[in-house]
Amino acid sequence: MPLAPNALSPVAGTTAHPRRESAAFRLLALAYRQHAAGIFVNLAACTGVAAQVASTGHPWAWYWLLGVGMVSVARLGLHVAFGHRFGQGEIANRAQRRRWQLAHEAGLLTAAVLWAGFVWTALPTQPTEGQYLILIVVSALASGATGVLAPLHGAARLYICILFVPPCIQLSIMQPGQPVLATLGGLFMVVMLIGHRNNRQMLLRSLALQEENAGLVTSLRAQNDRVQHLNASLERRVAERTEALHTMASHDSLTGLHNRRGMLQRIEQQIDNQAGAPTVLLFLDLDRFKQINDGLGHDVGDAVLKEVADRFAACLPADATIGRWGGDEFVVVTDLAAGDEHCGAVARALGASVLPPIEIEGEQLHVGVSIGIAIHPQDGATPTALIRAADLAATEVKKTGRGQIRFYDHTLSEVQRRRVELSLGLRDAIAQGSLRIAYQPIVGAADGEVISLEALLRWQHPTLGTIRPDEFIPIAEDSDRIVELGAWVLRRACLDAVVWGEDLRSQKVAVNVSVRQLLTPGFVQVVTDALGDSGLLPARLALEVTESVFDEQHTALTLRTLGALHRLGVSIHIDDFGTGYSSLSRLHEFPIDAIKIDRSFVANLDGQARTIIEGAIMIAHRFGLGVIAEGVETPAQAQTLWAMGVDSLQGYLIGKPAFTPQWQPVRAVWAAPEPTASARIATPRAPLANR
Ligand code: C2E
Ligand code: CA
Ligand code: CA
Repeated sequence: MPLAPNALSPVAGTTAHPRRESAAFRLLALAYRQHAAGIFVNLAACTGVAAQVASTGHPWAWYWLLGVGMVSVARLGLHVAFGHRFGQGEIANRAQRRRWQLAHEAGLLTAAVLWAGFVWTALPTQPTEGQYLILIVVSALASGATGVLAPLHGAARLYICILFVPPCIQLSIMQPGQPVLATLGGLFMVVMLIGHRNNRQMLLRSLALQEENAGLVTSLRAQNDRVQHLNASLERRVAERTEALHTMASHDSLTGLHNRRGMLQRIEQQIDNQAGAPTVLLFLDLDRFKQINDGLGHDVGDAVLKEVADRFAACLPADATIGRWGGDEFVVVTDLAAGDEHCGAVARALGASVLPPIEIEGEQLHVGVSIGIAIHPQDGATPTALIRAADLAATEVKKTGRGQIRFYDHTLSEVQRRRVELSLGLRDAIAQGSLRIAYQPIVGAADGEVISLEALLRWQHPTLGTIRPDEFIPIAEDSDRIVELGAWVLRRACLDAVVWGEDLRSQKVAVNVSVRQLLTPGFVQVVTDALGDSGLLPARLALEVTESVFDEQHTALTLRTLGALHRLGVSIHIDDFGTGYSSLSRLHEFPIDAIKIDRSFVANLDGQARTIIEGAIMIAHRFGLGVIAEGVETPAQAQTLWAMGVDSLQGYLIGKPAFTPQWQPVRAVWAAPEPTASARIATPRAPLANR
């Protein structure tokens, strides 16, 4: 970057431009470095010429030298006093710089004036050789000054002029004159001034270049820093994104827990870390979640899952990891030793955590959890095998009594094998004629009169013996097999009912219908055909469906189907009433004739169930629905239920399901203190062979 020489002059301008400042400073620093040497060279030159002049009989030259010496000492003193900071490479403040520069220039010009005086006086006294010597020394000093004093501007030029002008004048005016020498001196002075100017320009240019380079280096360094910073922040962002993606891939978005994938990784890690020590895996399956999800909608279901996940996570020890396995299933892995009391404690804590009701949208919801426990390595060598084992144990808990804890044992895989075998066997059950229907009576609570008979399916397996519907119906419901099976039962029951004996001619037959069956297109036609083919009056058919018909997902379809059936004249009963959710509030929306209070409530009449039954009876009656209580086993239960206003009763007390029902006459002893009212529980005249 071209800079005007004056702009860089240390004396020029008072602007505080940082780059100019620094250029001016560096010029001065250069001058500073050469200053002391310059004083000594000057002193040496003075000594030389003083000796020459003194040797020609002019001892005053020594006094002159003494003066020069004193001036030199003073110059050195000032140099040290004002300029010591340049030496340390520090940027002195402007005032300091200016002081040093003034001292330097004053000393320089004083030396020049001393020279001028000396030369003026000495030249006329010297022989030609002496004159030449003096002029050579002066010229040498001046030529040295072109380089050494390049940092200075005006002072350097003045110095050169003061060195040359007096000798040139003296050489012209003295006797005998030396006009040639005087002219040469003048020319030499001009050459020296031009030399100084060129040197100075070169110096300034090189300083400017140096500065430019330094600027470039600084900006390169800054750019480099910026690039490095960018790289670092880019790397950090990439790492953060990767981490977020990893978290997303391994975590469940609803609960924030590990998902299936994340959990499998954790279990694998846990097994590896344990290096042979047992790893415990707990499989948690929520109870009653399906009813909540179906009955109250998925938003409520999601809220319940979140709450449950939080409760589980809060009661786990630090070394345990929990994840959501899917739906309403969770998995916990810990390093607790097998059979360790702590293991049971963890499971119990998890179970207890969901007991307090969950309040969502003003509803108090109750869930439970069935827990299966499997231990690595004996129950499963790989994470998936271990989870399967714990899952089996949890499934077993669900079947045999919810809300419990069960350790896996090898009989459970037998259970699993049996399930597969049953599922395959069901395929041929109808064709092989191994299905039969048993009938169980339902009687009026007040008089013991038979109102209807419930058709209950029985399966005589060719190798496994009698299989109870509680076991095989859920298996059939897992596939579409239930549709075929259900249609067969319906048809068979209708055919049976039309041939029942005189006493049962007007009684109804109640047939269980799975929701899956109900939702199958063409179900109304299946019913119509069964009625048409058998000739059974629609009024004699009741269909028992569970509360899952209230599932909001299928409301429209359910309403259409139930409406059509109702119009045919078929009755609709809600089975297992009270085990689902929100039914009470939605009862009136559906074409329903009666509710069947689940036997779990009947079995618990002395407890909380009583209140629930009372509420259900009240609401059902208000909507004009009948109330049937099932699972009545004792006269006391019958009496209580009758007193509470239940319309009909079903249970072992009245009669067990039977293929060839031989109903014993039953007196409705529960309905009155004195056995005034009695009822004969009639039987079909002909044995109820299932054809
Ligand atoms: P469910 O509809 O609740 O039928 C009543 C069940 O309770 C019957 O069991 C019956 O034997 C039993 N039970 C009757 N009285 C008493 C009693 O006093 N005490 C006790 N502890 N139990 C009593 P079962 O026959 O084993 O049927 C079990 C379930 O299987 C039925 O429960 C029903 O949900 C289902 N199921 C039976 N047959 C069919 C069918 O044809 N289709 C469909 N979809 N499900 C069926
Ligand atoms: Ca039933
Ligand atoms: Ca039932």
